[in-house]
Formats: sequence, C-alpha cells, structure tokens
Amino acid sequence: MHKDIATPVRTKQILEKYGFSFKKSLGQNFLIDTNILRNIVDAAEVTEETAAIEIGPGIGALTEQIAKRAGQVIAFEIDQRLLPILAETLEPYNNIKIIHEDILKADVPKVLKEELKPYSELKVIANLPYYVTTPIIMKLLSEDLPLQSITVMLQKEVADRMTAKPGTKDYGSLSIAVQYYTNAETVMIVPKTVFVPQPNVDSAVIRLTVRKGRAVTVLDEEFFFSVVRASFAQRRKTILNNLSTNLPNGKVEKDSILEALQMAQIDPKRRGETLSIEEFGFLSDTLYKLLN
Ligand code: SAM
Repeated sequence: MHKDIATPVRTKQILEKYGFSFKKSLGQNFLIDTNILRNIVDAAEVTEETAAIEIGPGIGALTEQIAKRAGQVIAFEIDQRLLPILAETLEPYNNIKIIHEDILKADVPKVLKEELKPYSELKVIANLPYYVTTPIIMKLLSEDLPLQSITVMLQKEVADRMTAKPGTKDYGSLSIAVQYYTNAETVMIVPKTVFVPQPNVDSAVIRLTVRKGRAVTVLDEEFFFSVVRASFAQRRKTILNNLSTNLPNGKVEKDSILEALQMAQIDPKRRGETLSIEEFGFLSDTLYKLLN
C-alpha cells in the first residue's frame, strides 16, 4: 500500500522520478500536508453522492483525498507534463477523470454532459493556481452550472475580499460579485509551510455555497454590475461623485443620479463601501428605470 501522495517523502520521490520542475507562471505550489487536504475535503462535505470538479490536480495530492470519499472526480489540468505523473499516482482509483484543458477555455457544461454520472450534488474543490483565482471562480459562478458549492484554497488577501461585509476595508465589487451568487465564508487560514515551493503570500480556504437564486433580483444584471463597479472606482469619493463620472455609458447627469439616490433613500454623501447588496440592487433598478 502506497503512502498518501501528499506526504513530503512521497511527493519528493514522485517529483524526482519525473525530473519535474515547477512552473511559477502556472501557479504550481503543491500541498504536502495530508491533514490540510483532509480538512479541505471535510469543509466541502464530500460524500459518495458527490461529483467533484477539481481545477489543477498537480501530482494528485488533493485529487486522491477527494476520490477516497466522492463518487466521482473530474479534474482539469493545463500542464501536459503532469499527465503521465497523474496516470501513475492516481492509478489505484477508478473514479477519476483527468481532462487536459485550460479551465478558462474549457466548455465545462459539455464536459459535464459527457462525463457526469447521475449524482445528487456537484461541488468544486481545488487548490487554485493563484494567478487566475478570480477569473476561474467568476467563470464557474456565471456559467449557471448545477453547483452546490465551491471550496477552494486561494490567496488570503483575495479570500478576505470575496468574503468581506459592507463597511469593512476589504468590501468592494469583488465581494458583491461573489456574494451575488453565493454565501461566502472563510473556513481556514493555511500557513506557507505546507506547500512546495512555498508561495510568497498567505493562503486561506473559502467555501462559497451557491444560492438558489441571486442575492437580489435586478432588472438588468449587466447594469447592476456596472453601477457596483462605478461606485467603487475611487474609494474615497462619495457614491454621488463616483456614479456621476464612472458609469461606462459616459457621464450620466448628476441630477439624475441624485434623484435615483433620493428615491432609493441612500444619502448621496455615503461611500460605495457602506452599501449592502440589497441597496445596490434597489439603486441600480431605480437608476435603470430613470435612464430607460
Ligand atoms: N492540486 C495540487 C495540490 O494541491 O498540490 C496542485 C495545486 S497548484 C496550486 C495549481 C495547479 O493548477 C497546477 O497543477 C497547475 O498546473 C494547474 N493550472 C494552472 N493554471 C491552470 C488552468 N488555467 N487550467 C487548469 N489547470 C491549471
């Protein structure tokens, strides 16, 4: 019986056997702590009824821990050099499918249609490549996949922004984009020492539980997000000034913005960072009706 892939000794043996050199440009920091990996799988609440999507299996450290508990794992890996390694390390498991594709270019619904067995729940679990954490999460959320949750390791700084509440320094358009689709929480903070090579930044695991609907129902999603982005464009400015200058369709008359703020009962002197998602929803709908 082999030791777990993630043990430091086994990881070293595998990397040496294949003469593998890490590519920083692909965010390759592999986990070498089995306890942390088990904690991630625990946090995702994986059972035999779970089909898991993993992004970036690396040499299979997390994939193995998921496969021991899930019904099925579908893992997307961009780096061709890892394919023969994964074929060897994951050979004992018959419930894993490795897809050699860039997750950002992959047609995930098509892959799911072809590969997904009839399970009752679909979850994303990953130690993400840090150079693309936000695009990956936003792609998965906006594609309307039948996902229950996303449990992922990422930079602590990004985790703080995704889970931030109104009135805090980390709260911004990323918090709203993520919380529009999910309930976001930090599950654990992870030290640098559990990776090879060690990353330069601190890490955290977050769990995003996908909402049945959206946090707010709005008339026009695109307009809602443009109002949110414009409101945070210059953090020290008031919502009135930000919206008057930063909406993408050019300058909107200050009077119209003022009228919408008054109708939405939002003090024009407030800053974007103090508005809840519901307030942004109401404001965006009020302004949308005024302008259309
Ligand atoms: N899961 C492994 C672990 O925890 O040890 C490796 C995690 S490592 C942080 C990120 C992995 O994502 C690497 O294997 C890397 O090659 C892969 N990767 C990077 N960019 C990717 C992309 N766009 N699509 C799919 N995989 C990617």
